[in-house]
Amino acid sequence: MLIAERLNTIKSSLPKHVTLIAVSKTKPISSVEEAYKAGHIDFGENYVQELVEKHTQLPKDIHWHFIGHLQSNKVKYIAPFVYLIHGVDSLGLLKEINKQAKKNNRIISCLLQVHIAQEETKFGFNAEEVIELCDSKDIASLENIKLVGLMAMASNTEDTNQIESEFKQVKAIFDTLFSHSASNINMRILSCGMSGDYELAIKNGSTMIRIGSSIFGVR
Ligand SMILES: *Cc1c(COP(=O)(O)O)cnc(C)c1O
Repeated sequence: MLIAERLNTIKSSLPKHVTLIAVSKTKPISSVEEAYKAGHIDFGENYVQELVEKHTQLPKDIHWHFIGHLQSNKVKYIAPFVYLIHGVDSLGLLKEINKQAKKNNRIISCLLQVHIAQEETKFGFNAEEVIELCDSKDIASLENIKLVGLMAMASNTEDTNQIESEFKQVKAIFDTLFSHSASNINMRILSCGMSGDYELAIKNGSTMIRIGSSIFGVR
């Protein structure tokens, strides 16, 4: 019961307002089942095909979070069941999610990804772009999506001051957007923090953490 023990240890240490997403990417069905049997229902996946396979095989009350980089042409595969899409990084992608959500007669909740890390490779909007997007008429017309928050990844560094300053940046944007009020915007989730930095993320306002290796072991 190693997975369940690790999961419960982390869960019991979290403030009540923080939701834990167990990131099961590359891990077998049996590992997800072990966490599910321990009472956990929020799981995160990075790859569309893997997510679809796991959704097919596992209990239907699981909340599947898509946390990877989503390509527009793959939205249709996850639109029937995905619970929350974390890494939305373009208006085009948002429009495609809206279209597929409509086809499935659903409203899909999304987080906008904000680029805070120093590395060039991490996807996402900058602060001005995200605010501009939330103010645009484009958003208000997308009736089958709901923007419920922001997602970000800090730099992969040992420098905790750097990580903390990045988490503070995204929290500041989040606070700015909190009062934005198109009918399909309701910013309440800040998805920041992974195995190595989730405590710092929570200290700086995160309400949703995405933890893989500290629960399921190294990948
Ligand atoms: C893999 C991944 C995680 C989990 O990372 P760990 O370091 O294993 O906790 C969290 N968020 C995203 C976006 C990921 O790709």
